[in-house]
Amino acid sequence: MHAPEPPLVSPVGVTAGAVSHSADLIRPRLLATGRRRVVLHAGVQINGAPHLGTNVMQTAVFLLARAARERFGVAVRIRFGALDNAPYETRTCPGTGSLYERSFREALGGARVAGLVKHHYGGLFDELSAATGVPYEVETYGDQQSTRAFREELLASLGLMDRLRWVLAPSTGTVPVGLPCPRCGWSQKHGERTELLPSGPREARFAAVCLDHGPYTADITPRSGTFVGLTTLHRNLVKERVAARDDALPVIVKGADWAPGCRLLDEASLCWPGAVPPARLLTPVVLSDSGAKLSKTLIREGTTDLSGEAEPWMLDASVWPGTVGEYARLLLDLVARMLSEPRHFERGYTTREMARLIGRRPAAAGGGAGRPPGRPGNRDAAWARRTGR
Ligand SMILES: [Zn+2]
Repeated sequence: MHAPEPPLVSPVGVTAGAVSHSADLIRPRLLATGRRRVVLHAGVQINGAPHLGTNVMQTAVFLLARAARERFGVAVRIRFGALDNAPYETRTCPGTGSLYERSFREALGGARVAGLVKHHYGGLFDELSAATGVPYEVETYGDQQSTRAFREELLASLGLMDRLRWVLAPSTGTVPVGLPCPRCGWSQKHGERTELLPSGPREARFAAVCLDHGPYTADITPRSGTFVGLTTLHRNLVKERVAARDDALPVIVKGADWAPGCRLLDEASLCWPGAVPPARLLTPVVLSDSGAKLSKTLIREGTTDLSGEAEPWMLDASVWPGTVGEYARLLLDLVARMLSEPRHFERGYTTREMARLIGRRPAAAGGGAGRPPGRPGNRDAAWARRTGR
């Protein structure tokens, strides 16, 4: 028999004595606005299989939504934004050295993007939704940016750009807008050759240069279909402005690594007279041994510093050896424990600690959910050692 492993240990947090459940962080905004519905907004990446950190954040969204429903008696819903604007391929212009990129949406088209979203997240989200009773929807950035509301808020942000530029890009003051070449879909990554021409509140005209097809112009109006690529902070700002138009209280949920970015987004929203930054919830990040957040790029490059305890599926959920239902139950169990006290939620977890937490799950809690079936040979034995089975 194994000795019982130590329980989840976290230092006392700064909210101790003030916050007993992390969902309570949205209560002041609920009280101030009197809203009876809450929509939680979170992002999903489609440029590769999710890692454990991504799925922890998404699981937290469902559990936080359920907690909000139970604690405040409000109707809850989740809206995931799928980032089909992520670069699918990159080229360097041989003449100027400028970087050009083509997004997933431009390269693959809407139907294949929808297939990727379903492939990476559909099964898991359905399981999490069924377990929590919280409905969800997924909207691609490509679809969202084409809406009238998004265009109007984007145009408004361009009108405020003299102030916004130093908030959205404090070091350079440069906030590039990417407009794909109408003939090939490639757009300039850093916007050196993209220029905003004199524009009004209802229309913005940009001049840009394609590396294959030369100069072109693109018009953004509330009704135009031109795809618009924005920097991460600018895109999030406009999305939050759109969310604020809803009758429901928008709650922006992100991994805690977003804290510095959220600080800038809050300041950016104050550039609109009378605007109030949205309610926000930050979720625990999953870290490598070095303390760096798990990142798809670093995992792909092989530069992630990982302990022997890190399971392959922690880096790539698509190699999870069990069923998606078992994976969902594992995530729900882990994140419910993190949410049991704010101090367990207001921190990060290394993959080593995640392995320890999974290993010490009592058999009665999950009925074997923590032990993926079909593990061969030594790996199975290693898992059995950790789980005490
Ligand atoms: Zn072109």
